[in-house]
Amino acid sequence: QDKEDLEPTREVTLGPDHEFRFEVEFNTKVSIKLQKGTAEIFGTELAVGVTYTFSGRKAAVYTWHGCTLEVKGQFLVEYTANETPMTSYLNTHLALEQIRQNAKQNQDLGPRVLVIGPHDVGKTSLCKILVSYSLRQGGSPIYVSLDTTEGSITMPGTVTATCISNIIDVEEGFGSSATTAASMGSSTMPLAYYYGFESPAENVKLYKLVTSQLSEAIRSRMAVDEECRNSGFIIDTAGLIDNVGYDIIQHIIQDFNGNNISSSYHTHILTFFKKKKKKVNVLIVLGHERLYSDMNRIYGSSQKVSVVKLSKSGGVVERDRQFKIRLQRTKIHEYFYGTPKCELSPYSMLVNHDDIKIWRVGDVIAPSSALPLGMDSSSNETQLVKVDNYDMCLHSILAIINIDQTESENRILENNVAGFIYVSDVDEEKRKVTILSPSPGRLPKKHLLMGSFKWMET
Ligand code: ADP
Repeated sequence: QDKEDLEPTREVTLGPDHEFRFEVEFNTKVSIKLQKGTAEIFGTELAVGVTYTFSGRKAAVYTWHGCTLEVKGQFLVEYTANETPMTSYLNTHLALEQIRQNAKQNQDLGPRVLVIGPHDVGKTSLCKILVSYSLRQGGSPIYVSLDTTEGSITMPGTVTATCISNIIDVEEGFGSSATTAASMGSSTMPLAYYYGFESPAENVKLYKLVTSQLSEAIRSRMAVDEECRNSGFIIDTAGLIDNVGYDIIQHIIQDFNGNNISSSYHTHILTFFKKKKKKVNVLIVLGHERLYSDMNRIYGSSQKVSVVKLSKSGGVVERDRQFKIRLQRTKIHEYFYGTPKCELSPYSMLVNHDDIKIWRVGDVIAPSSALPLGMDSSSNETQLVKVDNYDMCLHSILAIINIDQTESENRILENNVAGFIYVSDVDEEKRKVTILSPSPGRLPKKHLLMGSFKWMET
């Protein structure tokens, strides 16, 4: 702390339409303060005179009209750039806003946006910008993250939907996991379904199943929430550019629509959705010419989907495997222990193995690409298997499935997540497991789903 206090501050002056790009390592801290002018980080405005602290981050402070920043600390990379795609991003927002205004007037659905592209082209950053701009204009869009590698809202391995109605935290980004964990079980917990693997390609059938469940849940939310309905949703995805990726993109576009709504909704809502077939209607392709051309060929002529091409920002940083693993670990750690801004103390508990049921999916968990040609692994890809081997669970992250005792176990994959626990120890003889949980007391549900994520407390 003392050492940081002694570090000299520096001034960075940015002209209009410039940005200050920076990278900070995980074990160092830097601070940025807006002294004069206006500035934003991925669409969220900085307040004048407030010190923002960053660690393990790669980001940019952008200004439309010019500003002066006071920066402090050891940056891994820092430079000022004057070529950014921000104007095209703003124009995209304005076009979406137009759709929202029309939606309001005509009692229609707002834009349903899907952002696709390779890894590390700035998809999540663009989503943040579009969501923030909508928020700044009084909207409350739903941010859908189908990127299971990152866990941008909560744990890695989940697909989530969050109705964004508060400004996105400048320091912590979308998913301040701390607040997620703190709100476990409450209505502010993002809606999450557990896929359990990093890449969608690892179990395509399961990935499609959980995204379908999520889209169904979003539909029901939109059916009852006018704000969300008019603002629409923005879907963030993992890098999907190979054949498997194309297959998944088509599935998402087909799936995030207004059909197949279950009969339990109010009749007027039913008719509302029935009248209009509402699928993804804006497809943004970021930073990939061929993907754009392919998508344009498939959807461009349909007139139901506008295919938009946007270019990647020169500031986007490719994150290597090591950084991503570090990011995942940080996310998991934050889920239990919170962030410096909102610290949490998790509870360690002993649970009888007989009081819980741990499940995993599939028999052989091998990516389809690893199987011999012509062999189909899809039959057991969504098969639930009970885990009786204790060692297998050690150091695993388990999702607590929000399913009632009375419901059939076969429906586990169709239910959302109530929270997560971590298995820190297992005692085969006594048939007990030690778990770490963000909240005290008995587990709210007994069915737990295991994926491939392991973690070690450090
Ligand atoms: P994707 O979602 O396509 O994988 P991200 O939006 O996560 O890409 O961006 C990759 C990394 O680059 C992130 O760490 C992000 O914060 C950083 N980044 C994005 N845009 C900029 C920028 N203009 N300047 C500096 N860093 C950026």
